[in-house]
Amino acid sequence: MSDLDEFMKIRLDALDAAGLRRSLRRVTGAQGPRVEMDGREVLNFCSNNYLGLAGDSRLVQAALDSMKEGGFGSGASRLVCGSMAAHRRLERVIADFKGTEAGLLFSSGYMANIGIISSLFGKDDLVFSDRLNHASIVDGIRLSGAKARRYPHCDMDALEGMLRDRSGACRRAIITDSVFSMDGDLAPLDRLVELARRYDCVLMIDEAHALGVFGESGKGLAEHFGVGDKVDIQMGTLSKAAGAFGAYCCGSRTLIDFLVNQARSFIYTTAMPPSVAAAGAKAIEIMAQDKPVRVKLWENTRYMLARCKAIGFDTGASRSPVIPLIIRDSEKAAVFSQRLLDKGIFIGAIRPPTVPPGTARLRLTVMAGHAREELDFVLKHLEEIGHELCLL
Ligand SMILES: *Cc1c(COP(=O)(O)O)cnc(C)c1O
Repeated sequence: MSDLDEFMKIRLDALDAAGLRRSLRRVTGAQGPRVEMDGREVLNFCSNNYLGLAGDSRLVQAALDSMKEGGFGSGASRLVCGSMAAHRRLERVIADFKGTEAGLLFSSGYMANIGIISSLFGKDDLVFSDRLNHASIVDGIRLSGAKARRYPHCDMDALEGMLRDRSGACRRAIITDSVFSMDGDLAPLDRLVELARRYDCVLMIDEAHALGVFGESGKGLAEHFGVGDKVDIQMGTLSKAAGAFGAYCCGSRTLIDFLVNQARSFIYTTAMPPSVAAAGAKAIEIMAQDKPVRVKLWENTRYMLARCKAIGFDTGASRSPVIPLIIRDSEKAAVFSQRLLDKGIFIGAIRPPTVPPGTARLRLTVMAGHAREELDFVLKHLEEIGHELCLL
């Protein structure tokens, strides 16, 4: 065995021993409320495809139309020669939807966060970051070289205490997920806007799990709180409720011009295929118009959340279609997930380091397309297995 193989094997064995080794599950066919796994259909309760758009024929058609007209690849980075009609159109659609001056596409949410944060902030700056922020925000701050202050999750008093100390840094920013990806709880955007104002901070929010889900017209949690015009930087992804791929940043024209010139994850990468952008634009259009599907998502969400609590699960502070069933023990969470799969129910176990140590969980996500009988079927098995594993 080579040294490299040996190094990797030791690491993997250690993960195995800790019950933390991960592997890929093979899914075939399109994403939907049900997916095919190893030749059989299972109920899918772990995707971020909340509205079911990932398998929607209207997105497929938009992509096909775009490919017929504009081919498949984009040929280069946007700044070289890859800035195609579909990209510009989607940026206009998103900016209009969000009510901002301008928008910019990135190839993924991960790339958006590292690009935005590392270009805007540097070693003289101070960034306040919620302790449960997504890894891409954490990595963006790290890459920026800014001094990071992680505040206790959604604790506005603690954050204010930290903000009072104005010594040192020249510029300051607060960055938060709006809906937290592993907990499904909500950042108090009203208070964050107030604190950012009072203490002269830039405010950036990541709406990955809020777009299409929150707000009267699905614009996100900023719309829900009525603070869209008070957030400096609104970032979000097209890969979750939008069912497509890629991400955006919305804000002032100056912000977008700055990012085009400075964000390395925008500059040094090939533009997304135009068909992907066309599907994203179709998704935004559907989201803006199709209120009934959002209403259905919320009916399912409220029902599932209430029933999981009633059965005795710890769902944390979830108030969204992301419902954690907090098991704590990583091995038990993995066993729980496997037993559910044996019953034809797919709910992944989320373990450290994706979540803090001692908070392993099943991350159950609800979709608009789940039927009531399917929810009841899952609840029945959650309760049974929960008892078997002495968790209730
Ligand atoms: C999923 C997610 C991202 C990353 O988006 P991708 O498009 O999947 O790279 C960023 N932030 C949050 C909060 C997320 O949940």
